[in-house]
Amino acid sequence: MQLSYWELKNWFSNVDYTVVGSGIVGLHAALRLRERFPASKIIVIEKGMLPQGASTKNAGFACFGSLSEIIEDLNSHTEQEVVHLIEKRWKGLHLLRQRLGDTVIDFKPFGGYEVFLEEQDSMYANCINKLPFVNEMLRSLFKSDVFAKQVDRFGFKGTKENVIYNPFEGQIDTGNMMQALLKHAYTANILILNQHTVTAISEKGSSVEIALNDFSFSSKKVLFATNGFANKLTNGEVKPARAQVLITEPIANLNIKGTFHLDCGYYYFRNIENRILLGGGRNLDFEGETTTELAQTEIIQNKLEQLLKEVILPNQDFKIAHRWSGIMGVGNSKKPIVSQLSEHVYCGVRLGGMGVAIGSVIGTELADLV
Ligand SMILES: Cc1cc2nc3c(=O)[nH]c(=O)nc-3n(C[C@H](O)[C@H](O)[C@H](O)COP(=O)(O)OP(=O)(O)OC[C@H]3O[C@@H](n4cnc5c(N)ncnc54)[C@H](O)[C@@H]3O)c2cc1C
Repeated sequence: MQLSYWELKNWFSNVDYTVVGSGIVGLHAALRLRERFPASKIIVIEKGMLPQGASTKNAGFACFGSLSEIIEDLNSHTEQEVVHLIEKRWKGLHLLRQRLGDTVIDFKPFGGYEVFLEEQDSMYANCINKLPFVNEMLRSLFKSDVFAKQVDRFGFKGTKENVIYNPFEGQIDTGNMMQALLKHAYTANILILNQHTVTAISEKGSSVEIALNDFSFSSKKVLFATNGFANKLTNGEVKPARAQVLITEPIANLNIKGTFHLDCGYYYFRNIENRILLGGGRNLDFEGETTTELAQTEIIQNKLEQLLKEVILPNQDFKIAHRWSGIMGVGNSKKPIVSQLSEHVYCGVRLGGMGVAIGSVIGTELADLV
């Protein structure tokens, strides 16, 4: 690529901080860097026309974990780790709401519900048994019960009579959130370059040489916020996990309002105005969904449609309006990785399936490593 004197001078000379990835984490990291270093030159490099991982693809649950997910996490993490993670998600949600404003992100405090299929006897019994324990575990954080048993009033079919209600969960408009974050970044004089992929980096003395497809430049520090694309960067600690979603056309007299979790969080659905957005089913093909390719598969899309028809909207006609997928970053632990990789290189990755809430905190922590 041939750049002019002006382009080199204004964009690519004396770059202090380069953030790779313009998702929730990358943009919050860039904004935090701006707070700390008002006079610095900050560039964000994004491989997509828009952010192309999870942040503009997600379901917009402002959540911190359903009861069954928390119980499952307690099998692989200590109680302290689980509480710490929930606390970070909760604080992250507050930071996001405070930074962008509830009206802008269309935050709706409709509450969240966990729904159990009729045949999920042991999972349901386990959740009911452990509900008081989990409420106690979270009391210091929320100052009241988080989870409560409620009779299903949504007319689901083939499900247990009771759902588990969480009044602290809400929903946001994902598109609004990401547009607002981008606007904040532009206003804070952060340069965002889309459709450029960082292909390699090499540390050279007091700076890092950053290679794009057809061009390279130097930056004093590089911060990777590449989440599901960070496999190589983290020596395999982060794996890509595709998540598929569909949304219906508007449905007359839709009675479903809130965010809903089904089957240990493997399925999730919500209303967005009078439509239903439904995603999940990765557990039907873990191997096939360990990919960075944005696409849909028949097996998962068929299952999503079947759930809509038989469980979620058994008595209503609906049409599918649109389908898409996004790429998450997962690993052995639910804890995001925020670390310094070498003298001038840092990363904040492995956000899992709940990055909307925790993303702001991870971006801030990433920037604070510098
Ligand atoms: C379908 C779906 C539904 C979800 N639903 C929810 C939900 O309801 N609630 C919730 O809390 N979380 C949800 N999540 C998870 C949440 O969206 C993520 O945890 C969060 O967006 C991660 O943000 P991030 O900034 O770390 O990653 P991303 O948003 O993936 O950002 C990483 C960016 O890095 C860019 N990039 C990667 N490599 C390079 C490179 N070499 N050069 C330049 N750019 C690069 C990518 O294009 C991408 O834009 C969902 C995820 C998906 C996919």
